[in-house]
Amino acid sequence: MTLAVTIFRSIPTIGLIAALAPAIAAAHDDATRLDQIKAMFDPTSIVAGPTIVDCKLSGGTETTCFSVTVKSSLEQNEMGPWCPRNTADGPEVSGIWLRDGVVYDADGAFVQNLSTFYDDPEWQMFDPATGAINVTDSKESCEAAARPEVDPAYNNYCVECLTSYMDEERPLTYVIPLHPVDTAEPGRLNPFAGIGIAFNGIKFDAPAPQDAILDAHTLAPFDDCGGHVNLHVGYHYHAVTGCSPAIALTAYHAPIIGIAMDGYLLMARLNPDGTEPADLDACRGHDSDGLGYHYHANQPGDNQTIGCFKAEHGCSLNDSGQVCDATKRPPRP
Ligand SMILES: [Zn+2]
Ligand SMILES: [Zn+2]
Repeated sequence: MTLAVTIFRSIPTIGLIAALAPAIAAAHDDATRLDQIKAMFDPTSIVAGPTIVDCKLSGGTETTCFSVTVKSSLEQNEMGPWCPRNTADGPEVSGIWLRDGVVYDADGAFVQNLSTFYDDPEWQMFDPATGAINVTDSKESCEAAARPEVDPAYNNYCVECLTSYMDEERPLTYVIPLHPVDTAEPGRLNPFAGIGIAFNGIKFDAPAPQDAILDAHTLAPFDDCGGHVNLHVGYHYHAVTGCSPAIALTAYHAPIIGIAMDGYLLMARLNPDGTEPADLDACRGHDSDGLGYHYHANQPGDNQTIGCFKAEHGCSLNDSGQVCDATKRPPRP
């Protein structure tokens, strides 16, 4: 937890209240809404858009969305570290692991202690003689160890994939309703769509499938920003630790950190006074402070940034030319 970098965009708070609050609180005309969404993104993360497109949401509603295509990666020095190389390695060269609401440094001592941590003697990820830890250090090994049915040769490996293993820059396109369409019952999170998008273009992903990972005695740590890489979506977050750009709202309300896939805004977990709002629903949302309905991110140890969707969600697509139909499972990239 020692290398966390806080990137905070210095946007005048007063101007933002004037510009954003009406758009958050009330439906606006589409062009104005689009401009306000565009202004929230770090422009260097955008490959194309945002533009207005037709879309079909997860509940079947056909409506108007914005489509934005973003880089799926940060600069190399803004990601990692993930796996320690030796049981002597400390937290400064290691990432984190999440379990039952708690964030752990996934350092050498943590790897050494895994059989006790999970009460399972089959954890043996290091050479007891030298302390060397098994780490996937090539595209081939990362692919074999990260797939749902882990290649048995990579049992007891620390899994680390790098964006440099990806064949090409693989931008992702997000298609998100301009105006949320609430559902009668809260909607489950969708592993294909993800949870939302940060203003540096990075995906807030659905919870990592930790059971499948642990069954093979592999560990795919997150960096101190809660992110790691897979070769299909690039770098993505499973936890919110305060690294991505935050847009200040007011002196008493948490800043905006992203847009959820259902079109509602995602705020940081805590208000500036250090308290979490007390009236959050099961999805971790509320309607407060004249801001309209919005979510607050969960504590990072839970591996679940929000609980559910209040509204029908849109799509995240590997092909920017594809039309969003969120009632269908997207093709595997
Ligand atoms: Zn992941
Ligand atoms: Zn709030």
